[in-house]
Amino acid sequence: MAAPLPIAAHREEIIARLRAEQVLIVVGETGSGKTTQLCQYALDDGLCAPGRMVAVSQPRRIAAIAAARRVAEERGCAVGGEVSYTVRFDDTVSASTRIRYLTDGSLLREALDSPRLERYSLVIMDEAHERSINTDVLFGLLRRLLRSGARPDLRVVVASATLDVRKFAHFFDDCAAVHVPGRAHPVAIFHAAPPPRAPDCDGRARAGRVEGAAAEGRYVEDAVELCMRLHRSRPVGPSEDVLIFLTGAREIALACAALEQLAAADAARGAAHALRVLPLHAGLPTDAQARVFSPTSAAERKVVVATNLAETSLTIDGIRCVIDCGYAKVQRYDCARGMELLSTEPISKAAARQRAGRAGRTRAGECFRLYSEEAFARGWPDHGEPEIARAALPSVALSLKCMGVRDLLAFDLLDPPPRRALLRALSDLHAIGALDDQGVPTELGARIVRLPVEPRLGAALAKAAELGCVDEVATIAAMLSGEDVFLRAPHANAAGTAGGAEAGGATADGGGWARARARLAPGGAACGAAGAEVDVREADQLLLLALYAEYARTPPAAIVSWAAECGVQLRAMHAARDVRAQLVALVASSGLAARAAPAPCDEPLGRRVRRALCAGFFAHAVRRVGTGGDACVPLAVLAGASLGEGGVGTTSVLLRPLAHSAAVLNGAHALIYHELVWTTCAQMRCICRVESSWLDEPLRRLRAAVDPLVLAGARPAPDAGADADGVAGASGGGARARCTDAR
Ligand code: ADP
Ligand code: MG
Repeated sequence: MAAPLPIAAHREEIIARLRAEQVLIVVGETGSGKTTQLCQYALDDGLCAPGRMVAVSQPRRIAAIAAARRVAEERGCAVGGEVSYTVRFDDTVSASTRIRYLTDGSLLREALDSPRLERYSLVIMDEAHERSINTDVLFGLLRRLLRSGARPDLRVVVASATLDVRKFAHFFDDCAAVHVPGRAHPVAIFHAAPPPRAPDCDGRARAGRVEGAAAEGRYVEDAVELCMRLHRSRPVGPSEDVLIFLTGAREIALACAALEQLAAADAARGAAHALRVLPLHAGLPTDAQARVFSPTSAAERKVVVATNLAETSLTIDGIRCVIDCGYAKVQRYDCARGMELLSTEPISKAAARQRAGRAGRTRAGECFRLYSEEAFARGWPDHGEPEIARAALPSVALSLKCMGVRDLLAFDLLDPPPRRALLRALSDLHAIGALDDQGVPTELGARIVRLPVEPRLGAALAKAAELGCVDEVATIAAMLSGEDVFLRAPHANAAGTAGGAEAGGATADGGGWARARARLAPGGAACGAAGAEVDVREADQLLLLALYAEYARTPPAAIVSWAAECGVQLRAMHAARDVRAQLVALVASSGLAARAAPAPCDEPLGRRVRRALCAGFFAHAVRRVGTGGDACVPLAVLAGASLGEGGVGTTSVLLRPLAHSAAVLNGAHALIYHELVWTTCAQMRCICRVESSWLDEPLRRLRAAVDPLVLAGARPAPDAGADADGVAGASGGGARARCTDAR
């Protein structure tokens, strides 16, 4: 029997406090038992009323699943019984569930239908220090619920790995906090010698570029080299493992391949000790993720190559050495241009301390930082920035509106989101028809908020219901939402430059696309999809549809060879099949299908699909500039559309499609893209031809942008009080004055 976890000594204190008070903060070093034990104490000590559950909310899907598995194992039951998890597109909850791990996104969606969270006696908000956007919004909602007095029996635990709890305590009306001291052992820290071999030595983040892609390769190389040196010179066995922090799936794959190659060469030369290399990032299937917890034997060393997932979300025991590249991939929303950007940025000093701490869990350890002490002191920020400060906000804004928050600017959050991003989100929601001119959710808005996809995609699915092509649009959405369905071409230089951006599994590698296009439509034109002909030159999305149709037609016995022949990742296709089925069912149960008119049957399928996509993604419309070239300019820029404060009209930008989309681009005038991937410049991933007339109405809505302060609920609608308000209602014809209130 292992020694009790640190939190066990505080069980009575925690339970006693929770009996007396509604909110409690529990601060404890990573690995002290917050995620796996608190919920069990609450259940076993009678804090959970019959028929109710304990919710444990996690910012990361993989942590929710891993914790549910672990706790089910500790309690000797199967996942889906007493202990369950709920993550997007995967729900194991049952009538016998008492402990439910769920992502913060899933809990937020549940709060839409059940604002009083009546299924729960206790809600544990885990990983509060991560400050994920959904967790932050849930904090706001929980505070509102507690203050309303509607659930005097509800208890809330805020669990955090960092000591700075003043902000949380203040937010929850100076609630109490319990500190659980860790079992940390000393960790010796070594920095790389200056000049550092890491990118951007002054540590300043420049959003909009993947920082120093070439240098990115260098720290991968440095990490591999150091790991091999440690492996060759040190004893092996349990408690001698190595944990390497890199920034993303691609770097991790490069490092793992290089380590395996070097270890195999050592083995061929008769090395006595094996090196077991295990990747860990959110894109991996769950059984591959679970392998990082497998015990290390006496004759081997385990090396886990991870993203910041291993920082606090998952605790891997037995780590002796940590190798920290000092960076993480950060998604940022560029409000002015309406684009999501991915940049590699220095982690905070607090995160660097967390990473180092992973080495001191079972015994004294060491942390090797691949950046110099000077750069760290000068350029690395003290604390991380909450996600709400840098994220796109349409989903959150629509959720809050649908939960009856009237004035979004006045809604209290731990940190207010940037006003500009919030107003921009409201304008976008208005443009897709999810909010009316007064900022009240429309019927469409109320329905799409229940779909577990971003509002744009929700709007596309709604239009698809109207046009009778939900299956097709759901298929496309499913294939674009998970792992890349195409296998990556093997990379010759494992530790070379890691230039490809990683946004939603996208890569600049178009080999799979080109092959699929050549095979599915040899003449470049039409091929069968869902029992009808589509012209795959009209859209990358239609090519995906045709690929899926072929997958669905292939008999199970032949599927493996089919995938190999097509260069397709079977796992990603199977996942897409499951997601597709769920999306179709969700659209049906959301009432969108019933609301829709019967499908017109004379319009070709491909055209209907493109029209549906256009209804959601028209803000991503571009027009080609010049002739012959591949440069496109966003239509909102050409139209001079006003999108609220500092709208896109002020910033011009040229976009190019990924090379494999040339067939779609040729001969097209107007296009929409699915998303941007950020390599050396902004590139459009998945483009779809649209007809200019489809854009007239949406662009008119964009141009006639309603004052976003009215949409926010912070200013009365012009009809309600135009005279009292010097700005609103200035111009006629439905066009409203632009908002000039910039702060
Ligand atoms: P905290 O949330 O405070 O970081 P956890 O409750 O996640 O701590 O973990 C407590 C301990 O339980 C860890 O130190 C580890 O020993 C063990 N543990 C947790 N999850 C797993 C798992 N999936 N597999 C193996 N051991 C685990
Ligand atoms: Mg935890």
